[in-house]
Amino acid sequence: MPEKETGMNQFAVLLNRGVWLPPVMLSAVLILASYYNYLLFHTLAELFSIIVGVLMFVVAAYAQKYARDNFIMYLATGYFWVASMDLIHTLIYKGMGIYPVTIANYSTQFWIANRYVEALLLLTAPLFFTRWTHHVSKFVVFGLIAVACYVLIMSGRFPDAYIEGVGLTRFKIISEYVICTILVLALVNMYRFRDRLKQGLFPFLMASIVFTILAEISFTNYIGVYSTANLIGHIFKLFSFWMILYSIVRVSLQDPYQSLGTSRALLKGLRDGIPDLIFYKDMQGVYLGCNQAFCELIGRESESDIIGKTDVDLFNKQQAQFFRDVDQQILQAGAARRNDEWVSYPDGSRRLLDTLKTPFMDSKGGVIGVIGISRDITDNWLAEGKLRKLSQALEQAGEAVMITDRDGGIEYINPAFTRVTGYRADEILGKSLRMLKSDRQNAAFYKGMWRMLARGDQWQGKLVNRKKDGSFYPALLTISPMFDEQGAISNYIGIQQDLSEYEQLEAQFHQSQKMEAVGTLVGGIAHDFNNTLAGITGNLYLAKKAADSLPDVVDRLNSIEELAFRAAGMIQQLLTFSRKGTVQMHPISMPSFLKEVIKLQEVSVPENISLTCQVGDVDLIVNGDINLLQQALINLINNARDAVESVGTPAITVKLDQCSVDEEFLERYPAITSRDVACITISDNGEGMSPEIQKHMFEPFFTTKGVGKGTGLGLAMVYGAIQSHGGAIAVESEEGVGTIVRIYLPLLQSGAAEGVVDDTTGVLGGRGETILLVDDEATVLATGKDVLESLGYNVLTATDGLKAVEQYIARRDEIDLLMLDVVMPHMGGQEALRKIREITPDVRALFVTGYDKNDALVEDGDASPEMVIKKPFSINKLSQAMRALLDN
Ligand code: ADP
Ligand code: MG
Repeated sequence: MPEKETGMNQFAVLLNRGVWLPPVMLSAVLILASYYNYLLFHTLAELFSIIVGVLMFVVAAYAQKYARDNFIMYLATGYFWVASMDLIHTLIYKGMGIYPVTIANYSTQFWIANRYVEALLLLTAPLFFTRWTHHVSKFVVFGLIAVACYVLIMSGRFPDAYIEGVGLTRFKIISEYVICTILVLALVNMYRFRDRLKQGLFPFLMASIVFTILAEISFTNYIGVYSTANLIGHIFKLFSFWMILYSIVRVSLQDPYQSLGTSRALLKGLRDGIPDLIFYKDMQGVYLGCNQAFCELIGRESESDIIGKTDVDLFNKQQAQFFRDVDQQILQAGAARRNDEWVSYPDGSRRLLDTLKTPFMDSKGGVIGVIGISRDITDNWLAEGKLRKLSQALEQAGEAVMITDRDGGIEYINPAFTRVTGYRADEILGKSLRMLKSDRQNAAFYKGMWRMLARGDQWQGKLVNRKKDGSFYPALLTISPMFDEQGAISNYIGIQQDLSEYEQLEAQFHQSQKMEAVGTLVGGIAHDFNNTLAGITGNLYLAKKAADSLPDVVDRLNSIEELAFRAAGMIQQLLTFSRKGTVQMHPISMPSFLKEVIKLQEVSVPENISLTCQVGDVDLIVNGDINLLQQALINLINNARDAVESVGTPAITVKLDQCSVDEEFLERYPAITSRDVACITISDNGEGMSPEIQKHMFEPFFTTKGVGKGTGLGLAMVYGAIQSHGGAIAVESEEGVGTIVRIYLPLLQSGAAEGVVDDTTGVLGGRGETILLVDDEATVLATGKDVLESLGYNVLTATDGLKAVEQYIARRDEIDLLMLDVVMPHMGGQEALRKIREITPDVRALFVTGYDKNDALVEDGDASPEMVIKKPFSINKLSQAMRALLDN
C-alpha cells in the first residue's frame, strides 16, 4: 500500500520526471513550430490540449466503474467539452480557412467562453466528491452548455471579444481577470477539500489550476496570435491540461494497478503459503488454478500441470465422480458445503480431507465455478481415531458406565446405563449421584465406599440400586477415581453390571444342583429299600401260599402285602424323581393319551369340580414312557384337585398345544433340544403357591398338606419323569388366584403310538419251563427261586453275569428263559445276555431291575425276545411278563 501523502509532502510527487517529460517535449515542439509558422504552432497547441482533454474523458470513463466518487468523471466530462469547444475555436481561427466564417471575433469569443467554463468547472469540481450524478446527465448538461455558447456566439448575442482593427474588447480583458479570480477561488476551494481528494490528486490539481492562472495572465497580454504571450499562455495551458490528465491516469489506472498488484501478491502469498489445499474449477469442472500444496499432495509439479485438467484426469473414476457430484450440488444450491472425505491419491495413499467448497463468483456475483479449500486431517484422525474408538467402546459396552465429577455430579452415562436404570442422559446429567441411591444399603456402607474412593483406591462391591421406575436391581459396581495431571482426583468412573439376570441364573443353577444332590441321595436309599421290598413281597407271596388254610393269617399277610406295595409305589416315585428308574420309551399319541387319562381320573375328581380337557385334533406324537407320563399327569391333576378344594367354583383345565419355542426358551431349558414341542397345560383356580412354596415344591417330601394327605413326592416324581423325557416343566402360580403347570415334551415326527396300560389280568402259572435266575443279592435270589417254583417253573441260579454264562453253556438245552438283574459285580445282566446270545441268538430274557445307572434300558417293544420288569413287581405282573415271553 502506498504511504499516505500528507500536506506539502504530497507535492514531492510533482518532482517525478515522468510528470514533466511529455509536456516539456510537446512544448519544445510548439516552440519549434512557432519559429516556423505561428498558425501551425497554434493549431498544434490546441490539438495537443484537445487530445489531452479527450484522453482524460476516455480514461475516466473506463476507470469509472472502480472509482469511489464522481469527481474525476465530472472533471473529465467537463474537459471533454472544453476540448470540443477549443476545437471549434481552432477551426474557426482566422486564416485556418476550414470553417466558413472569417470573423476573428468568433474565435476569441469561443476562447473566452471556454475559459469561463473551465474556471467554473475547476471551482465546482469539489462539490462532486461524493455527489453521484448520472454520467449521461453530466455529459448532456456540459454538452448543452457548449451548445448554448455556440448558439450565443454564432447568433451574435455573445459579447464581442475582438474587434478587427481595434483589438481585444474591454469584455475580453476584464474577463481574463474575472477568470483569474475564479481560478484563485477554485484554488482555495480545492485546498479546502484537499483531504477528501483521492490520494495523489491534490498536488496535480493545484498545479493545474496554477498553470491555468499563469496561462490566463499570459493571455491578458495577448496582442495577436503571433505574440510571445500567446505562445507562453498556450504552453501553460498545455501543462495545466496535462496535470489533470496525469492525475486522472494516476488515480484511475496507476494506483489501482498498483494495489491490484499488491493484492495479487498477497493472494499468491496466502494461497501458496498456507498448508491447506486450495483449488478452483469452472462450471464444467475444469481446473482454473490451485496452490502449491494441492499440487504436491496429488503429485504434480506445478499449477500449470493442473490447469485445464478435470478430476477424471487427476483421480480415479469413483473419486472423480464423487467430487463431481459434490460440485454439482454446490453449484445447484449456490451455497457452501463442508465435509470430511477419504481421498485416494495417485500414489495409492488414502488421506482424510476436511473440505470446504463454495461457489466461485465473478465480480458481478455470478457463479462461474467452485472454490475448494481442503485440510488434510488424516493425522488428527489417527489420534482422534483412537479417542473415537475408546468412546465407541464406552458407548457400546454392555456394562452401565457413568462418569461423575469429584463431588458426585453426573457428567456422562452410556446407553447401557439408560438400559439398566431407565434414566436418559437428559434426565440425569448434571444431577447428583444420590438420586440412584436405594435405602437397601445403610449410611455406613456408603461412608465406607466414599472413604476408600477419597483415598484414591478403587471400590468394588455388590449393592442394590434404584431404577427410574422406583424398582430395585442388584448390581456389581466398580468405582475408580480418575486423576488430573497434578495427581488430584478429578472424576470417578463407575462401571456396573446388572446382576438381576445373573442372580436368576445362579438361583436356577443352585436349584438344579440341589435337585441333583437330593436325587442322588434319594436314589441310593430307594434302591436298597427296593431290594428289601422285593424280598418282603416275594416272601409274603410264599407265606400266603403256605398259610392257605389259615384265613386270619392270610388276611394279615394281605394287608402287609398291601402296605408293602404302597411303600413300593413311593419308592417308585422316588426312583423316578432321581431318574434312577427304568424308562421304556415308545411313541405316544398325546391327544388320545390325555383323553384316556382324564377319563380314568374323572372318577377320583369330585363332581363339583369342573374338569375340562381341551385337546385339538392334531395328532401330536411324543416319545415317552407311558407309565411315567400317566403317573405324572395323575399327580398334577391330584395337586390341582387338592388346591381347588376350598374355592367357590373349582375348575381344572387340561390343555394340549403344539408350539415352536424360541432361542430364549432353549437357553432357559437346556434339556429341550427340539424346537417343536407338545405343551400340556394343567391349570387350576385354586389357592396357588407363595414364592417360598414354589422354591421348594419339587423337593421330595416337601408338602404343605396334612399328615396322611400329602407325601411330598408328587411334583418330585413329575420333575424326574419330565427330565427323563428330555422335556421341561414350568410352574406359574399366584396365591389366591391359581396355578398353571406347563409341561413341554419334544415332538416326534411320526410313529405308531401306544395306548394306556391296562393291568387287569391275574397270575399266570408256569408249565415246567426252566428259568436261569441271576442276581447278586442272596435274599432276592432265594425268594425269587421260591416264587418262581411256586408258579410252576424249574429254577437254576447264578450270582453274577459270568456265572450265568457258565451255567448257560453247561445247561443250555434245558434253559427256556433268563431272568437277569441288570447291575451285578463281575458282569452285568446286559453283558451276560450278549455273551449268551453269541451261543443262542434268540434266547429269551427278562431283566429285573430296581436301578439303572444308564438311565435308559430302552426296549424296542413287545416283539423283542427280552423284557424289563421293575422291582418291586407284583407277582401278577411278573407272571404275565414271563408268559408273554415264553409264549411268543
Ligand atoms: P403333595 O401333593 O403330596 O403335597 P407335591 O409334590 O405334589 O406333594 O406338591 C408339593 C406341594 O406343592 C404341595 O403340598 C402344595 O403345597 C404345592 N402344590 C402343588 N401343586 C399345587 C397346585 N396346583 N396348587 C397349589 N399348590 C400346589
Ligand atoms: Mg401331590
